Amino acid sequence: MAVAQESINGPALVIGATGYIGRFVADACLDSGHTTYVLVTPGGKSPIRAASIEELREKGAIIIEGRINEKEFIEQKLKEYGIEVVISSVGGTNILDQLTLIEAVKAVGTVKRFLPSEFGHDIDKVNPVEPGLSFYNEKRRVRRALEAAGIPYTYICCNSIAGWPYFDNIHPSEVTPPLDCFQIYGDGNGRAFFVAGNDIGKLTIKAAYDPRTSNKTVHFRPACNLFSLNEMASLWENKIGRKLPRTILTEADLLSMAKENIFPGSIVASITHDIFINRCQTNFNIDGQDEIEISDLYPDIAFRTIDKCFDDYISNLKE
Ligand code: NDP
Repeated sequence: MAVAQESINGPALVIGATGYIGRFVADACLDSGHTTYVLVTPGGKSPIRAASIEELREKGAIIIEGRINEKEFIEQKLKEYGIEVVISSVGGTNILDQLTLIEAVKAVGTVKRFLPSEFGHDIDKVNPVEPGLSFYNEKRRVRRALEAAGIPYTYICCNSIAGWPYFDNIHPSEVTPPLDCFQIYGDGNGRAFFVAGNDIGKLTIKAAYDPRTSNKTVHFRPACNLFSLNEMASLWENKIGRKLPRTILTEADLLSMAKENIFPGSIVASITHDIFINRCQTNFNIDGQDEIEISDLYPDIAFRTIDKCFDDYISNLKE
């Protein structure tokens, strides 16, 4: 069994550090000064991934080659390096691989905190249409396995990553907001919380090492970044100094894209429907005893505002 919850200062193992969310987490872990091991899958890498691994190494990460679904290997590494914090940010196709990782963590019994690959909504509270629901069901299985194993966990529900939420693009913050035409979902008044990638990384690491977040769901709800698409569109128009036309993707449009069941676009369409039509990020209160709002934990930490994120896109455009 894992050890009882106490203060944590030891090394972290970040899994998925070459991925979109994982890179923010690994960078933040290194910046925090904690010894950071990074598990990367063996074999040939794309030039971008190879460069990413090199950058992590230069920043001080200790690279381990292997896969989370290799139980004995992971057990050996957890013991050898005295890992106290495991943070997984594997992508959508590898969510269930974490079940083997959990078995390894349980067998070793010295990990003080496990953060599974979540980084979105509170999957126990929301029910998107298919295929998003099946994706969430996999994440739910991982939660239940962690709880059954008695491993201290933290679930990070950081809501939407800051950027224009293109419905068919899973990495929206890497793409400039529209310059020709906005696609608005429904009436455009459904609001979501947008969090910059660096803030997701920084606050995830703070939460991972914080005794107050043991066995808790941590919600990121920055009041300064609660925006509807209509509000985001106006803000962006002010930045670029001109008005753009709007086309409407109706609820029926999003549902029919979800129904096509094409990976990953249909999952994104179903989750986009859940956010902007069902308003799944804002239609519940955080009042359960196992839930915390991140700003209550760290009231002095300011979130990067959408306004500033949009300024960054403008600077990039000028360059
Ligand atoms: P990516 O697909 O970008 O990255 C996945 C990472 O996991 C890669 O580094 C990959 O390495 C690694 N990986 C995959 N399989 C294994 C394995 N068996 N062993 C070890 N490493 C493995 O994922 P994302 O960043 O898009 O997604 C991460 C999480 O964040 C998900 O839970 C997703 O739902 C969520 N998310 C949230 C968003 C938001 O707006 N809130 C936006 C995007 C994602 P390699 O390339 O070497 O295989």
